[in-house]
Amino acid sequence: MTNKPSDFAKTSSNADAMPKTDSQWQEKLTPEKYRVMRQKGTELPFTGKLLNNKESGKYICAGCGTVLFSSEAKFDSGSGWPSFYAANKDTILAKPDTSHGMTRVEVVCRKCGGHLGHVFDDGPGPDGKRYCINSVCLEFKKK
Ligand code: FE
Repeated sequence: MTNKPSDFAKTSSNADAMPKTDSQWQEKLTPEKYRVMRQKGTELPFTGKLLNNKESGKYICAGCGTVLFSSEAKFDSGSGWPSFYAANKDTILAKPDTSHGMTRVEVVCRKCGGHLGHVFDDGPGPDGKRYCINSVCLEFKKK
């Protein structure tokens, strides 16, 4: 039995599975995920399904499945968005963001470029970071 290229395209480890165009992303993601991840939107605070998740596991990118955060670094910031004091630095990128008249640092997924949220300097961990992440950009994998 031979594998056709289309069989490989279905596996998440294959780079070809990653949408390349904006319309492909729109097809792959739910409207809310598309709005936040591809158009740098923000979900309403206190609405995300992972906000109060306290289970042990990994938080992966809702766009491409890359591991971004660990439950070990999750804390309740009171902000209304899932918050982490540390990130997987190999898989996220921090970029300056001056939109909406504010100077902030945007956090994006290194692999798919999806917008995740912002990082601030008032976190409780050793390096003082607070990653404020839209729940809709994350999926949870229980340990
Ligand atoms: Fe991603």
